[in-house]
Formats: sequence, C-alpha cells, structure tokens
Amino acid sequence: MRIDIMTLFPALIESVLGESIIGRAREAGIVEIHAHNIRDYSEDKHHRVDDTPYGGGRGMLMAAPPIYNCYSAITADAPLDEKRHVVYLSPRGRTFTQEIAKEFVSYDRLILLCGHYEGIDQRIIDEIVDEELSVGDFVLTGGEVPACLVADAVCRLIDGVLPLPECHEKESFEDDLLEYPQYTRPPVFHGRAVPDVLLSGHHANIEKWRQEQSEKITAERRPDLIQKKAKK
Ligand code: SAM
Repeated sequence: MRIDIMTLFPALIESVLGESIIGRAREAGIVEIHAHNIRDYSEDKHHRVDDTPYGGGRGMLMAAPPIYNCYSAITADAPLDEKRHVVYLSPRGRTFTQEIAKEFVSYDRLILLCGHYEGIDQRIIDEIVDEELSVGDFVLTGGEVPACLVADAVCRLIDGVLPLPECHEKESFEDDLLEYPQYTRPPVFHGRAVPDVLLSGHHANIEKWRQEQSEKITAERRPDLIQKKAKK
C-alpha cells in the first residue's frame, strides 16, 4: 500500500511516521509513505500558498492551484486501474474509527490532504477529494496530526507491519468490545496482585475471564458499542 500526504509541513509527518513500527515497516518496504510539500508546487514567485477569503472574514485560506499542482504531479504516473482514495482531514468530515481504518486498508493508495490556517478553497475539495474525515469534535491548527493518526491506524493493519497478525485481531473495537486488563511481571506491584486466573495456566478459564472483563469494561465505558453489537 502507498500513502501520500500533501502538507505544508512534511517534517512534522516524518517526525511521527519515520520512527518505531511504522518507520521500520517503511524501511522494510511493506508500506510506502511520502510527504509532499504543497509549497513546492506554488507558481507564485514568493511561494505563497494562502490568500484571504472572498467575502471577507477571519484568517487565510489555502489556495487551490498549489494543491492541485501537487496532486497532479503525484498521480501523474499512477496506473489507470489504481484503487485510490483522496481524503481531506477536516472537522466537517465523518469521524474516523477502526472500521474506517479497515475500509482504507483495501485501497492501493490513500492520499491525505492536510489543511492549515482557516482551511482550503472549496473548489479543491469538489474537484479531487473523495471524502472529508474528522478525528473528533475539536479543532486543531492543521491536518498533520490527524493525517499521522490515520496513516498509523491504517498501516498497522497491513500484513507484516505488526510482528503477529493476532496483535490487531484481539484489540479494542474488535467485535465492538474494549480490551480486557493486561498485566506483566512482577506478580505483585505496590501490593496489587495479578488476578489468580492469569497465573493458573488454564487457557479456557483465562479466555473466559478476558471476555467477561471486556464486556464489563465496554458496558461501563462505552454502552454505545454494546448497543451497536446487539443490532448486528
Ligand atoms: N475553519 C475550519 C473549521 O471551522 O472547520 C478549521 C480549520 S483548522 C484551524 C485547520 C486545519 O486543521 C483544517 O483544514 C484541517 O485540515 C485540520 N483539522 C483541524 N481539526 C481537525 C479535526 N478535528 N479533524 C481533522 N482535521 C482537522
């Protein structure tokens, strides 16, 4: 899979997606991630990428031409049958979830467009964007943190990125449940002992305990997930 991120701050992207598990997956060639600087595609002699909004109002908007030039350049050599999805990170979009991450992993290429300032010219959204995607009901200064968040959640679902496939098969949101509590050595920490069942070596009982704990925690913290599961 290939992920392209169009941004005014490629170093921000690299600082997050160049390290750790995703950084190693990139080095191993399991996933390709490219951060493109939209400013490099500005035709303005001062490399301007923003302008004041028509109709007045606060702040600056990212202009359409440099974004379009960037998009054209990075897709120029794409195969005709490429399954591509272009996402504009935006508080107006549908809210990102694990289900959407699973949906995205089926594309050959994901193109993530990061806004800045007051956002971007509507015409670029109308022309190249397949969907707007939000990471929550709050407003950030730019789309870079949301883009890294989406790229991370999608990449870890790609075969070979995590050491064991079951790492993401038994996690929060699988089967609409949150994860059960986990423990490692020492067996007692500050007087708090690991639950006996986990030390018993009895796999069926351990599985049963984990399932019960998942259901209990989900019911307490996310009753909406229990309702969702019941409707399926
Ligand atoms: N004026 C915009 C509005 O009221 O919806 C907010 C613009 S915000 C300051 C700048 C950029 O940050 C946006 O274009 C978007 O790319 C990104 N952004 C901010 N909050 C976001 C969120 N919750 N989810 C995804 N992207 C977000």
